[in-house]
Order: sequence, then C-alpha cells, then structure tokens
Amino acid sequence: MTASSDAAPGGVTDQEWAAAVEAVGGLAADDEVQLICHVSPDGDALGSMLGFGLGLRRLGCTRLRATFPGEFELPEPYQGLPGADLLVPEAEAFSAPRIVLIFDVAAESRLGGLVRLLPAAPAVVVLDHHASNTRFGRVNLVDPRAAATSVVAEGLLGRLGVELDAEIAECLYVALATDTGSFKFDMTTPGVHEMAARLLATGIRPGEISRRIFDTRPFGAVKLAGEVLGRAALDPTAAGGRGMVWTWATLADLERYGQRPYVLDTLIDPVRSVAEADVAVVVKEIGPGEWAVSLRSKGAVDVSGVAVALGGGGHRLAAGFTGHGTPGEVVVTVRELLNSHLL
Ligand code: 5GP
Ligand code: MN
Repeated sequence: MTASSDAAPGGVTDQEWAAAVEAVGGLAADDEVQLICHVSPDGDALGSMLGFGLGLRRLGCTRLRATFPGEFELPEPYQGLPGADLLVPEAEAFSAPRIVLIFDVAAESRLGGLVRLLPAAPAVVVLDHHASNTRFGRVNLVDPRAAATSVVAEGLLGRLGVELDAEIAECLYVALATDTGSFKFDMTTPGVHEMAARLLATGIRPGEISRRIFDTRPFGAVKLAGEVLGRAALDPTAAGGRGMVWTWATLADLERYGQRPYVLDTLIDPVRSVAEADVAVVVKEIGPGEWAVSLRSKGAVDVSGVAVALGGGGHRLAAGFTGHGTPGEVVVTVRELLNSHLL
C-alpha cells in the first residue's frame, strides 16, 4: 500500500481515504454501483475502472455496471480486458445508483450526459490524478502526483482489503503502463515500479499485454498514420523559439482507410518525437468543425494551462481540449497561447 506514503502534501488526506473506505466498504451486496470513466476512454480510464469493478466483485458486490459517455465503442485492444463484461452503454447506466465511482475524470464536462446521476446519488467518489481536477465529487481521491488513476484505485482497493489477482492486476497494469508511456515518463517513480512489481507478482505477462494493447494495429491504421505524419508542419519560432510541430486528421481520412477514431490516439507519440519542437499538437476531427486536440510538451510549456484556457484540461506536459473552426485556426489559437504558458 504505497499510496498512503505517496499521499503527503498535494495527495489524498487520511480523512478522504477514510470517507472513501466508509462509502465503498459499507455497500450491501445488492446495492447498485455505477462506475464511470471519461469520454473516449484510454487505458488508464478503462483499466482503473474495470480493475476497481473487479475488486468490488471480489468484495461481494453483485450489481455493478461500468460505463462512459458518448458512443459505446471501445478501442479494439481494450475489448478483451478482464471485467469488460461489466461495461454497458451510457443509456443502460443505473438510473438511481447507491454510489457513483468516477475514474480519471478531471471535470464534470468529461462526463457528458452521465452527469445527471450525480446530484441524487447518496455517494459520489472521484478517483483521479489530474492537477486540474475540480473536485466535483462528494469524496475526492485526487493525487496529482500519482502517475495514473490506477495508483489511486490500487490504494483504495488495498484499504478495502481486496487482494490483487491476475485479472485485477492486468487492468491496473494496462492503466499504469498507458499513463507512464510504458514506464518512460518522469512520473515513473520508485513507487510506480513497486506497484508494477506487485501487479506482475500475480503472474500477468507484460510482454503479451503490451503487444496486444500498444503494439497491434490494423494495416489501414499504419497507412493512415503515414499520411497524417506526412502532412506534419514544423514552426521552430513558436513557444519562444522552442518550436512547435503539428498535424491533423479528418473524419474523411478515417473513412478512406476504414479506420475508427481511436487509432489516431497514439499518433501524438511519433509527432512529439520531433527534435526541433518542444510542443506537439495533433488536431483530430470529431464532428463538423469540431476537433479533439492533443497537446504535449517536453518541458518548456505548461500545455495544461493552454488547454484549460481553451476549455479543456490535463497535465502540465500532456493535455487536450475541444477546438472549433479549421485545423489551421485551431493551431493558431494554440500557438498564440504558448508564449504565456512558458515554464
Ligand atoms: P490526450 O491528448 O491523450 O487525449 O489527452 C491528454 C490529457 O489531456 C489526458 O490527461 C486527458 O485527460 C486530458 N484531456 C484531453 N482532452 C481533454 C478535454 O477536452 N478536456 C479535459 N478536461 N481534459 C482533456
Ligand atoms: Mn490518467
């Protein structure tokens, strides 16, 4: 249970842990439990939610549903995650659950229509690690220093007396590996490796999991990535001379290659590898004139500041928002804000 030692200033207080343990530990077997993660769920959102859901099942909870707002579509690699049988479309969420548990969601705006469940729910517990979290739950387990929401989820499972098994561990491992960029980013602390060691000790196979989750994609997605990377543009004068690289992808691009939107989510990685730019931007069409924008920085710019200024959120070095207009207009807006968020 490293989460408690990780939880000093800026982390989760003892009172908050106690309130969460009371809210979750006091559930009866047939209480309705609704788990929710953010729109367009990633590995941390799904992995922490499903891993926690499996933990509740081990505690005896029988009425568990997990969901996320928007189209009920999972990236192919996540469809085989343990606990995926808990997932239901947004419309099939419990209408008046005893408790709502929310994973990897920094703000109510990321809950779409599911926000309707919050006011009437007797308990709302938020598990998250975004510094920009607005603390919209009744109990908020928010630790901005945690590498992933699954770190917080493991901390609560431990306090509830749930022992890790291979299924829970696979979910939490996918979450941890996703948000640390496969244990590459700076927040890969000794505590992260200690948690990974606890997860691996259940017998899960990291090579097999990583290949399935991170290193498998359809041929069309590879061709699409080639085209989208081919149109990347570099502006070395942006971000106070630290440089910005950007590209965009439309729904028509996806259509042409017969691909689903999630295949674009990893494109930010090759884009941000560009040596001449500190800031990387990928602009992805999600509707007419509407774009999901991914921002990354190598350290010169607080991109979460930029994202928050544009109605989004995220972390200092990885953030996003919804943009409007043409991709060029979206990028100009970002570029103008970079200089006022230099670190
Ligand atoms: P990504 O670029 O991988 O979609 O997201 C990077 C980070 O920014 C994640 O932590 C994600 O939660 C956050 N983020 C991305 N888009 C949005 C958005 O529209 N609103 C908020 N609040 N956060 C976002
Ligand atoms: Mn996360």
